[in-house]
Amino acid sequence: MIADLHTHSTASDGILRPSELVSRAKLHGVDLLALTDHDTLAGFAEAQVAAASEGIRLVSGLELSTLWHGRSIHIVGLNVDVANPQLLAAIASQASVRQKRAVIIGERLEKAGFKGAYEGAKACAGEAEIGRPHFGHFMVEAGYVKSIDQAFKRYLGAGKIGDVKQDWPEVSQAVGWIKAAGGRAVVAHPVKYKLTRTKLRELLKDFKSYGGDAIEVISGLQTPNITRDLTLLCKQFELMASCGSDFHTPAAGWQALGSFGKLAPELTPVWHDWAQAS
Ligand code: AMP
Ligand code: MN
Ligand code: MN
Ligand code: MN
Repeated sequence: MIADLHTHSTASDGILRPSELVSRAKLHGVDLLALTDHDTLAGFAEAQVAAASEGIRLVSGLELSTLWHGRSIHIVGLNVDVANPQLLAAIASQASVRQKRAVIIGERLEKAGFKGAYEGAKACAGEAEIGRPHFGHFMVEAGYVKSIDQAFKRYLGAGKIGDVKQDWPEVSQAVGWIKAAGGRAVVAHPVKYKLTRTKLRELLKDFKSYGGDAIEVISGLQTPNITRDLTLLCKQFELMASCGSDFHTPAAGWQALGSFGKLAPELTPVWHDWAQAS
């Protein structure tokens, strides 16, 4: 049984349309898939149609941008009621934060000499919720940088001029929205935040106290010692375990759909009691 519970489509910063993502997941042997676009459920309906025709199990999902003590943390919501009014209001609010943030990022980049940054990024985003990767695309296309990675290293990543994050909601609030919609809240890619051991434990303790459910014990290709470590933390904090590729593009091998290790058998998978996943 292969579950990939963290993926992106063109509804946020992924390369494939939701239907293309579902087909590719099927091709890669994924049995249970969650589309978890940044701060939106917009791709779910299309994914659902594709999942029905491909014969692959799909659960709803999203990846919420949040803050914890001023640090940027991503919380994945899984198996949420996509019609829940509170969650839909939260998504509308996230969209407005993203939009306002994009304007500020655009102004900052414009001042730094990147002409037409906002308009360019907006064009790259198309119908998607705008994010920093769209600014990265624009900068590559305009010839300002060689790659999106370089754009992040120089201008968009943590602490750089395009890193505007002060408006995101607290982790506690995001967990509340997910729980209100009957879903499960998951700390995405716990090692990506580069927290010290003490801080990571503090985050998990807080998360658990807010009613959080699970952590991503596996996020894409990762070293066995990270998996061992997260398995231990997962057990210590009595959380359920999730796993996902964080797929954005077929070009990134380390985030290939469904291609990662298995969860240790002593962990409780976040999907263990989902009717549609049994
Ligand atoms: P945002 O949602 O606007 O805060 O942008 C964050 C997204 O940027 C992440 O979800 C990643 O998909 C992407 N990202 C972060 N760092 C990099 C990087 N170094 N190169 C390419 N994409 C990145
Ligand atoms: Mn992303
Ligand atoms: Mn993330
Ligand atoms: Mn992600």
